[in-house]
Amino acid sequence: RSLSTKSSRVFYSSVRFTVSSGEMASHIVGYPRMGPKRELKFALESFWDGKSSAEELQEVAAYLRASIWKQMADTGINYIPSNTFSFYDQVLDTTAMLGAIPPRYVWNGGEVGFDVYFSMARGNADVPAMEMTKWFDTNYHYIVPELGPDVKFTYASHKAVNEYKEAKALGVDTVPVIIGPVSYLLLSKPAKGVEKSFSLLSLIDKILPVYREVVAELRAAGASWIQFDEPKLVMDLDSHQLQAFTHAYSELESYLSGLNVLIETYFADVPAEAYKTLTSLKGITAFGFDLVRGPKTLDLVKGGFPSGKFLFAGVVDGRNIWANDLVASLDTLRSLESIVGKDKLVVSTSCSLLHTAVDLVNETKLDKELKSWLAFAAQKIVEVNALAKALSSQKDEAFFSANVAAHTSRKSSPRVTNEAVQKAAAALKGSDHRRATTVGARLEAQQKKLNLPILPTTTIGSFPQTMDLRRVRREYKAKKISEDDYVKAIKEEISKVVQLQEELDIDVLVHGEPERNDMVEFFGEQLSGFAFTVNGWVQSYGSRCVKPPIIYGDVSRPKPMTVFWSSIAQSLTKRPMKGMLTGPVTILNWSFVRNDQPRFETCYQIALSIKDEVEDLQNAGINVIQIDEAALREGLPLRKSEQAFYLEWAVQSFRITNCGVHDTTQIHTHMCYSNFNDIIHSIIDMDADVITIENSRSDEKLLSVFREGVKYSAGIGPGVYDIHSPRIPSTEEIVDRITKMLAVLESNILWVNPDCGLKTRKYSEVKPAISNMVAAAKAVRTQL
Ligand code: GLN
Ligand code: ZN
Repeated sequence: RSLSTKSSRVFYSSVRFTVSSGEMASHIVGYPRMGPKRELKFALESFWDGKSSAEELQEVAAYLRASIWKQMADTGINYIPSNTFSFYDQVLDTTAMLGAIPPRYVWNGGEVGFDVYFSMARGNADVPAMEMTKWFDTNYHYIVPELGPDVKFTYASHKAVNEYKEAKALGVDTVPVIIGPVSYLLLSKPAKGVEKSFSLLSLIDKILPVYREVVAELRAAGASWIQFDEPKLVMDLDSHQLQAFTHAYSELESYLSGLNVLIETYFADVPAEAYKTLTSLKGITAFGFDLVRGPKTLDLVKGGFPSGKFLFAGVVDGRNIWANDLVASLDTLRSLESIVGKDKLVVSTSCSLLHTAVDLVNETKLDKELKSWLAFAAQKIVEVNALAKALSSQKDEAFFSANVAAHTSRKSSPRVTNEAVQKAAAALKGSDHRRATTVGARLEAQQKKLNLPILPTTTIGSFPQTMDLRRVRREYKAKKISEDDYVKAIKEEISKVVQLQEELDIDVLVHGEPERNDMVEFFGEQLSGFAFTVNGWVQSYGSRCVKPPIIYGDVSRPKPMTVFWSSIAQSLTKRPMKGMLTGPVTILNWSFVRNDQPRFETCYQIALSIKDEVEDLQNAGINVIQIDEAALREGLPLRKSEQAFYLEWAVQSFRITNCGVHDTTQIHTHMCYSNFNDIIHSIIDMDADVITIENSRSDEKLLSVFREGVKYSAGIGPGVYDIHSPRIPSTEEIVDRITKMLAVLESNILWVNPDCGLKTRKYSEVKPAISNMVAAAKAVRTQL
């Protein structure tokens, strides 16, 4: 709250926005909103809890915006974005701007306020929230617009103009950023009831009038540049979709005249066809490209770039935390400069800095050397500026030599390179790694050992994490309780969980994961090559942030990570106890990954560490081992042409972890999604003995795969109830679910389990729900 008074103290010397000739310009695509210490998160949550007022929330937001603008202006950035702040999500902001409020949120016209806005984002007492989905291949999630043929677009949120004016009043002339009309429509979904018959792009002429109004208002407020984000241009689009861009911008052309318009793309290179469309758009001054994830951009530009237009060159990575290789970037920029001309090149970030951590200054626990290798959003701004300066013969020699020194130390550091790991990973290449026998033969061998009933029951791993449990872990970490006390407390928890599962009569037990805070962090902390930040938060959705570990070096496993707890758990029961591991692909996809070797190499290294753990668990008498790959699908590249390669090494990595176990050791995997119709063959190729997957929210989707004749002979446990909701499923409804599954799946491969881990639920929900689940399995067994 102390923030609120500070906003007035942010002070500006007036910022010169014009770029004099010969001076290279700098631009930032967008900036994180949460604040260096997640100030916005706490302000939002306090407001939602009714603990603070709307004014207080507004004040924190204004303070954060002001400090970001000031930071960029002070650094010397010429093109500073506005309207990249958001109280929840930039796509939802656009929905508000367009007045495209689904009727169930009861909006009475006028400016969209917090009430309606947060109802759409989070639901209210009467209606659930709008759907949320992944923003391209990032870990950010946006609120999906719902549009039907009857939607009436009206200008209903003046946020873009207000923020422009707000910055201007503070002395900063900004570039207002708006999601472009075509990407907006392509990011939407058809409203309920019109799913099949409706083309979203048919709305293009209906939404353009609102864009015109916004543009006119921005112009009247004094804006000289506008940035339209059209990231959909990097996807595989058909000619009809590309045509929509040509149409939309020619319709807008006369309204844009006199303004400078930047069309920004990011997350990949623009495919050749789309590049042609983009660079031929009418009324556009500048084009922005991601040169980090879009290695082909350079060739495209070489092949032809419209004369007299600006190129905004995204050379500073917005998706990672590594310090830029300034020398390499300078090379790239020079070659672009020779094509587009010195005064037409603008140095930029590859995408919005929303997807990186905020400020390295607050990292008190990282050592100096490691810190010298890193750059968070605040540092990336400085890099962009330094590159622009260097291009206009004002190179900051000290800054550049520090950067070179950091790169040299990173290249040669023994912390990064581990010869043994490199060798082991290299030896993996060129051959296929898989278990020697077929899944059918293995399941038979396992059944002899495990002797499970038909339709065996199990859970996904975690049991409820009570306040007490969290406190014990926190106190142990802070060294407030001794190791002995900690072990005692965790042992007690495990034994409670084991006893409960025996009472519930579950067939394959879990230890409950009480020692784990997070499924990646727990392993990262015990592996070499990982570092952890204190404040390296990245927005995931709304007020939710994640703090990905940083993989900076070759990954190895100094000692077993889970064997101690799993052995204790197994010693407490005669039933099989599942060992519980996070898979290599998930560890990779939920971390900041090193950029000095291909992703697959890092993944193979992690796979080798997990392989050692798998074998140690087996040797300790654990006969069932689950290797979670919750994030395997998330890593799928945006472009179809790159997906096969990813799936190949991702699946190979998974198989590496368990290719060496005995036939009698049963390998499970778990995935938190069911929309894998398109990757089903890769999933089968993982060659797990049993796969448990989310299903209860999308029964039909999953089962249709098998109905369409996909042959599946391994064990499969499609979740029979949704653990994301506090609702307790009845025995009858679970019986019904199982029966439906048996219509498409053989009874001898079907498992009965919930959708995902039980960590976020209360015991008062878990006990009756699992009890009903077991009862349902037993009821169906008697009918078989
Ligand atoms: N084993 C993990 C758990 O149960 C899996 C979590 C996940 O899939 N997200 O918590
Ligand atoms: Zn899950």
